[in-house]
Amino acid sequence: MRLPILVTAYFGYKANERPEPFSVDEDLFDIAEVEDRWHEPDAEYFRVRTADSKRYILRYSELVDEWTLQSGFDGDKLLGRPGIELVTVQAARIREAQSRVLGCEHCQPDDAEVPFDWLLQEVTGRTGNVDFIMTEPAKCPRCMRAVTEKTLVEW
Ligand SMILES: [Zn+2]
Repeated sequence: MRLPILVTAYFGYKANERPEPFSVDEDLFDIAEVEDRWHEPDAEYFRVRTADSKRYILRYSELVDEWTLQSGFDGDKLLGRPGIELVTVQAARIREAQSRVLGCEHCQPDDAEVPFDWLLQEVTGRTGNVDFIMTEPAKCPRCMRAVTEKTLVEW
């Protein structure tokens, strides 16, 4: 799941530089620390800790210049606010998302960091407050175990 958010400035590259707050709906979140950041082909990701000791994953896509709040950690509560749209994912799209998986939390516990639903939003192009319903089960191509929306995967 992914929810567009408002971030007033791009995070600095210096380790100790404090990023600007971000807001979800009307609520403002002060960031105390960027605990981790990593780069994926599609975007830059930040795991942040807020002043009230909650953890969120933020994503910045330079291509579309858009910040989003990702599912995971305390973000699930914000994403779970009313207004969630259910999106049905057809078999072809599930297989497409599955083909990008290199491993899952069972066979690649150290590298599986993102929930499978991130890939579902990539292949469906659906952002915003959506919850996916898979029309058939997905499998990890590496170990063949079942993969749900919330299974952590490497891609
Ligand atoms: Zn696996």
